[in-house]
Amino acid sequence: MRLNIACIPGDGIGPEIVAEAKKVLAKTASVFGHEIVYEDLLMGGASIDVHGIPLTDETVAKARAADAVLMGSIGGNTTTSPWYQLPPEKRPEAGLLKIRKELNLFANLRPAVLYGELADACPLKKEISDAGFDMLIMRELTGGLYFGERRTVEENGVRKAIDTLIYDENEIRRIAIKGFEIAKKRRGKVTSVDKANVLDSSRLWRKVVEEVAADYPGVTLEHMLVDNCAMQLVKDPAQFDVILTENMFGDILSDEASMVTGSIGMLASASLNDTKFGLYEPSHGSAPDIAGKDMANPIATILSAAMMLRYSFDLDAEADAVEQAVKTILNRGYRTADIMPKGGDVTGCTLVGCRQMGDLLADEIK
Ligand code: NAD
Repeated sequence: MRLNIACIPGDGIGPEIVAEAKKVLAKTASVFGHEIVYEDLLMGGASIDVHGIPLTDETVAKARAADAVLMGSIGGNTTTSPWYQLPPEKRPEAGLLKIRKELNLFANLRPAVLYGELADACPLKKEISDAGFDMLIMRELTGGLYFGERRTVEENGVRKAIDTLIYDENEIRRIAIKGFEIAKKRRGKVTSVDKANVLDSSRLWRKVVEEVAADYPGVTLEHMLVDNCAMQLVKDPAQFDVILTENMFGDILSDEASMVTGSIGMLASASLNDTKFGLYEPSHGSAPDIAGKDMANPIATILSAAMMLRYSFDLDAEADAVEQAVKTILNRGYRTADIMPKGGDVTGCTLVGCRQMGDLLADEIK
């Protein structure tokens, strides 16, 4: 298969971690007999330096023409970098918002996996972390409270702020379909999270999700109120497979779920539209404090590349091979600095840099 990938290395550690993801993808392609063609693109600070703006229309067009986009991270030190002297719409992050909007990326996926080898980093009680967990939060990204009409008024000397939460059934249906399709590729369970005891938008959410569920008899659907879900994530995270939820609930729950894994350098993400197209990037930022020092953990980007293989190209065996390589290398004790046990027992652990981690993972794909 020929994979046309637009690649945005970005800023800070972005180029370092993307280079390692490309290394692992190259090995995977050679083992499984695929051809990868990259179109390298500038975004964020790297684009400001060349074009004066964080994302050009030409870059958007090239990204759109690809099958998928693999991204590192964008942005610099927000206190010292000259990029942050520019007006907000010309700063690096504006590029990120623009590309998500232009490509209609309405579904955000964030897996939260606790690897047995990194259980010490999990802030939960040992009996919970010992059970491990592997869930995926699917968050609606372009509707709801963050995109509704808002205003602040003053009435009779009292200031009042109004935000509106709107979802129509089409917005709910398209993300629900994504959630069920992805659950089919995983353990076949969707937990739809809402606040249907209070909100009309949640009652419609629940109805439409049930209508979609009827087309997926092999997938189990359960509903959970958002307040209960926030508790269950720390009480019994192993119960979750796919958590399907609206924009604001997903914003909060996905941060909670990622924190219970304890390691920012391991967190992948994907943003999808209603075709197979997606943008794949680590959940973390550009880590300017460690850029250029060969210290970054490339695993979040490599796991994002595995999601790209699975969701944009339907190459499940290839994605499995990459994910298995990560487990094997962690199991052998190799750690970048961020996931090295802190002050604890480091017996059996070997500290490696970004490049060596990439080499180890690529070698492991056979
Ligand atoms: P950050 O995620 O870049 O860094 C937070 C901390 O985690 C730092 O100590 C960093 O060294 C560490 N860290 C992050 N990724 C790591 C990795 N792969 N390996 C090892 N350590 C890692 O967050 P920040 O410092 O708040 O932001 C830095 C810049 O990144 C800012 O310009 C911000 O706007 C941008 N940012 C970009 C994205 C994105 O591209 N999607 C997301 C978040 C932040």
